[in-house]
Amino acid sequence: MPELPEVETIVRHLRVALKGLRIVSVDVYLPKVLASPDIVSLQTTLPGKAFLELERRGKYIIAHLAGGAALVVHLRMSGQLVYEPEGGPLPKHTHIVWRLNRGRLRFTDPRQFGRVWLVPADRLQLVPGLRDLGAEPLDSTFRLETLAKALSGRKRSVKAVLLDQTLIAGLGNIYTDEALHRAQIHPVRPAGSLTARETRALYQAIREVLQEGIAYGGTSVRDYVDGTGQEGSYQNLLRVYGRNHQACPRCGQPIARIKVGGRGTYFCPHCQPERTPEVGRRTPEENKSAKPAPSPRDDREPIENRYRTSRGET
Ligand SMILES: [Zn+2]
Repeated sequence: MPELPEVETIVRHLRVALKGLRIVSVDVYLPKVLASPDIVSLQTTLPGKAFLELERRGKYIIAHLAGGAALVVHLRMSGQLVYEPEGGPLPKHTHIVWRLNRGRLRFTDPRQFGRVWLVPADRLQLVPGLRDLGAEPLDSTFRLETLAKALSGRKRSVKAVLLDQTLIAGLGNIYTDEALHRAQIHPVRPAGSLTARETRALYQAIREVLQEGIAYGGTSVRDYVDGTGQEGSYQNLLRVYGRNHQACPRCGQPIARIKVGGRGTYFCPHCQPERTPEVGRRTPEENKSAKPAPSPRDDREPIENRYRTSRGET
């Protein structure tokens, strides 16, 4: 599914392509992908409105329109949001088409889990999940301490914590596995058991994999295409994700696949041992801060898992 780098890539394309274009009409072919409002309200509200600016928050695309409205799109498993300057036959599984004064914007989604909302721009909290998003990992406000705080005292696996959109926004299965491999941390390690050194390594790894993902236009392993309909190329640089039984680029040992919280998880058993390598070599200060502090938040399923029953599994 599209994660932060893929959604960011789409937003960067569409920000340029859509700027100043006006909506002429809207066609909805599959009503269920329109979460709110209803089709009639959408078709009466949107015509004449121009695109002003696009932004990304977590995995949400937010398009601000003239007049104070915002179109919000979540691509979930397989959604695509593509601007096409020319018409032509619509691709299969296209569910909404915004016809513009020049070209068209289409929402295409084979698995039909993606959703579209139209809300007042000052009431984005009406979109489920958007209000509760955690830190933006590429924002300057995401600091080492932000990650340390998200991990601290949690018994849940480090992978589950990284996937929890209310703690850190935008990470999904691919970039989480890649970041954990770079930081040499086993995905099922309790989040609260990470040492200061491991936390620092993970912090750097998260930012690196996301920045590289954006630089390569995202990862196309299934349906992802960017805002112009092109595939990304970061799938060629993945070190563990989708590489079961292949050689780890770091040590040459075979990559393994396990399930963590219901999600297929790739890692190198040699580079990412399950034991805590630093235990016993911690400073007294680290030992104090690493003491597990039970938190009621730990009883909650990660947001990704809550969607799982209705959305299928990656
Ligand atoms: Zn390895």
